[in-house]
Amino acid sequence: MLCQNNKNDSTASCGLSADDVRMPVMIVETMSLGEYQANCYIYASETSRAGFIIDPGDEAEFILESVNNLGLNIGYIILTHGHPDHTGALARVMEKTKARLAMHPLDAGMLKDKFIHSLLGFSPAEITPDRLIVQGETVTQEDVFLKVIHTPGHTPGCICLLGDGLVFSGDTLFRLNIGRTDLPGGNSSQIITSINDKLLTLPDVTTVYPGHGPSSTISYERQYNPYLNRGY
Ligand SMILES: [Zn+2]
Ligand SMILES: [Zn+2]
Repeated sequence: MLCQNNKNDSTASCGLSADDVRMPVMIVETMSLGEYQANCYIYASETSRAGFIIDPGDEAEFILESVNNLGLNIGYIILTHGHPDHTGALARVMEKTKARLAMHPLDAGMLKDKFIHSLLGFSPAEITPDRLIVQGETVTQEDVFLKVIHTPGHTPGCICLLGDGLVFSGDTLFRLNIGRTDLPGGNSSQIITSINDKLLTLPDVTTVYPGHGPSSTISYERQYNPYLNRGY
């Protein structure tokens, strides 16, 4: 198993404060897919129907059906990191949606890495990202945006994606757990630093949508996550 948490999440909607009518209501669709039950997310605007797919790890046809059912125009596929359980359906989903692929440069080589693919029972594909994204950049399509937070530790090119009141945390932070660091490129002190300095500093009410398992909040993880004991 690639990660420690493995429970299904359910579909959820996240909105914005009722007093800010200028912001669109966002759709968050959660799909736990494949043998590793990695969470693939659709993040889109109710208003413009523009959106992103995050981590299409498996079951490409199911992801595509969800996109079609929601009537969305997918501008970007964004990867939180390069592990195959998050990228297994990438080729097919890219082909059908014509969306551009965005990811951190330090994990881009992993898409073709035979060793990590064989370790998890996947086959690598010849895919090159269309856009390399680093700390502080924002990926935008119409009224949908996600800001890149570079959180190395689980892999060197791990990123979290910050939206309006939520963060997609990939395999960096889970509910009551953190990502493993024993795979190639993992670093246990780095992941703690990443989480403490870049995630636990987010507002308390920020919803956390992890790469595996159920969602959480920053305040809940700051208080109860047994791997994070900096004394908050
Ligand atoms: Zn991973
Ligand atoms: Zn994973």
